Amino acid sequence: MSEKRIVVLTGAGISAESGVRTFRDGDGLWEEHRIEDVATPQAWRADPMFVWRFYQARRRQLLDVKPNPAHFALAEMAQNREHFTLITQNVDDLHERAGTSNTIHMHGRLETLRCERSGRNEVRMDENELLDEFLTCSCCSEPVRLRPDIVWFGETPMFMNEIYAAVEQCDVFVVVGSSGHVYPAANLVNIAKAAGATTMLVNLEAPLNVDAFDEVHLGKAGVLLPDLLKRLA
Ligand code: NAD
Repeated sequence: MSEKRIVVLTGAGISAESGVRTFRDGDGLWEEHRIEDVATPQAWRADPMFVWRFYQARRRQLLDVKPNPAHFALAEMAQNREHFTLITQNVDDLHERAGTSNTIHMHGRLETLRCERSGRNEVRMDENELLDEFLTCSCCSEPVRLRPDIVWFGETPMFMNEIYAAVEQCDVFVVVGSSGHVYPAANLVNIAKAAGATTMLVNLEAPLNVDAFDEVHLGKAGVLLPDLLKRLA
């Protein structure tokens, strides 16, 4: 029998036990900020320095946090299976640091910055690149300002063709640590289900789209996910 195709979608909840705060655990704020003030193209246009400093703080925070057992369990599965796809809504690098090298970051990454003119991104994580001042690109003849390489609300997520192809072909679709508020990520479970996949959830509390899951495991990802993945292996 051929190996089952497994697709996992992670959200901010998987990094909570590593000390990275989620959006919607209590107050609906991201590190004390309203989403509209730091995660929209309008906010960037209105006050780019404020938005830049918010993301520079998030980028510096990457140096202080470590992957947790949920990230490591996914890395082990990624290394041992041929048909495995990890999609994340997260912008942190904890999946990579746990050992999953080909994670699909649908909402961008903190480690990279994007040229506002060419759209090219580049890793800029040296110590002197994590300060509060703007940085410029290394791709244009006259270097221009870099923006966070983040998909803001109202922008189109990245790699959607690749994501839909993986989800439409999977046998098992697992969501970990996502509140089901952010689209199109929150709809992927419906696409998987329509394609005949078994759908599973690991989340601290029931998300908005809980009814779309065949199996619901409520609790901490770092505690529940390693055992769930062993069962699927
Ligand atoms: P969300 O913040 O809307 O929801 C997080 C969910 O995780 C909640 O339902 C919560 O109950 C659950 N949760 C909290 N702790 C958990 C734990 N230990 N184990 C399992 N579940 C836990 O997150 P979202 O659905 O990913 O949407 C938020 C958006 O914010 C994403 O697009 C993402 O790009 C961005 N974001 C990213 C990060 C990050 O990269 N770590 C952090 C904050 C926000």
